[in-house]
Amino acid sequence: MRRTRRIKIVATLGPSSSDYATIRALSDAGVDVFRLNMSHGSHEDVAARHAIIRKVEEETNRPIGILADLQGPKLRVGTFADGPQDLADGQAFRLDLDPTAGDSTRVNLPHKEIFAALRPGATLLVNDGKIRLKVSDCGEDYADCVVEAGGMISDRKGVNVPDVVLPLAALSEKDKRDLEFVCDLGVDWLALSFVQRSQDVEDARILVKGRASIMSKIEKPAAVEAYAEILEASDGVMVARGDLGVELPVQKLPPIQKRLIRGARQVAKPVIVATQMLESMIESPVPTRAEVSDVATAIYEGADAIMLSAESAAGQFPVEAVQTMSNVAEEVESDATYRAVIEASRTAERSTVSDGIVAAAREIAETTDIKAICCFTHTGSTARKVARERPNTQVLALTPFMPTARMLTLYWGINCYQTGHLDRFKMAVVEAASRARHAGFATQDDQIVVMAGVPFNTPGTTNILRVAPCDERLIFSSDTD
Ligand code: PGA
Ligand code: MN
Repeated sequence: MRRTRRIKIVATLGPSSSDYATIRALSDAGVDVFRLNMSHGSHEDVAARHAIIRKVEEETNRPIGILADLQGPKLRVGTFADGPQDLADGQAFRLDLDPTAGDSTRVNLPHKEIFAALRPGATLLVNDGKIRLKVSDCGEDYADCVVEAGGMISDRKGVNVPDVVLPLAALSEKDKRDLEFVCDLGVDWLALSFVQRSQDVEDARILVKGRASIMSKIEKPAAVEAYAEILEASDGVMVARGDLGVELPVQKLPPIQKRLIRGARQVAKPVIVATQMLESMIESPVPTRAEVSDVATAIYEGADAIMLSAESAAGQFPVEAVQTMSNVAEEVESDATYRAVIEASRTAERSTVSDGIVAAAREIAETTDIKAICCFTHTGSTARKVARERPNTQVLALTPFMPTARMLTLYWGINCYQTGHLDRFKMAVVEAASRARHAGFATQDDQIVVMAGVPFNTPGTTNILRVAPCDERLIFSSDTD
């Protein structure tokens, strides 16, 4: 099946989408990476979905990425004795360490570290930011607050503390168990929620032990401030607009989104734009104009991937939501303005031989009528650099390692293939030409660009660029090795 779209689609699995037929339909509709949300569902559910994805991967003969998203240190209030309580503007409300059920004057907040970090004047947001509390007085086991914006509060509602860097471990005990479970199961990406500093990523990396690439979700003001260091420590990032839009005024999101995307592309790391992209499609088979515009904006900005959350996990129209994203992408990516914007924003730092070769490959492919750029890659690093160039030509990444192929599914414009063992460059060219033809990107009469490291099979040494015919007979009759 030919897929020409360049931006990738990530779909979250959930109750609406955990059976084989739906996962297969989502894949056929264009999902590149499936997200397993560890905040919901048991390990058995996760393992069952994982097995179905791998089965679909085998059937469709196309590497599929799996992203496991850890819940992270999400704060929650305790429970209420008499059900939901309506907090009025201006009233007093206390949060404390007392585990007994709450009422209209107080509730348990079972996180000791929070009270130690709070100061009078700090803001606490409850229930997706709907309720705003201001701390008037606090001690080591309580915080007395004034309700600045009232509303309904009920059992285990989430709490955000935007303006305090919390002394919380980035990984809770549950996160550590989940991490071990999914890494053993075999996932390609592991997303960390509520990252506050680069140390959080470094701590997680020690536990991951190379079993997955690490994605940092940028959803705290502190993470936006420490973005450069967090990006450096991570393998990819997510613009997690849900929690970020609670912790910051929503109008701050669009410029932050642009900045995060630009920063990630500069260092050739993938960036996902997430949350509420097609929110109305949870209940409606068609999106709003504003949602279509939001998806288009992320594409124009050069994101690597766009994500569906509740739309695919719990909505009524998961497949339609993927189709919508895909249709918008096809339209935007064929717009001349899109090309102009992408070219104008090319700011790659180039300092190595492979950077130069990758840039040259794009230049040659775009100035002539070459149909595909093919790169042989072990760790994926050459393919990442090609993705950063955002070439106007189709890109094929060929690797003997399935984990590399799966990891690369998240990158802009990369068509991933696992190859058998190849030990000569000429055979690699034959393989690349055959893949380009079978993918429908090139015909027998076309030419491709092939990049590799010779001697063949030495990782980290992209040093050769060849313009080759797609016709096997011509490849064999040429005189290179
Ligand atoms: P979540 O993360 O869906 O796990 O909360 C994404 C976001 O906050 O946008
Ligand atoms: Mn979040």
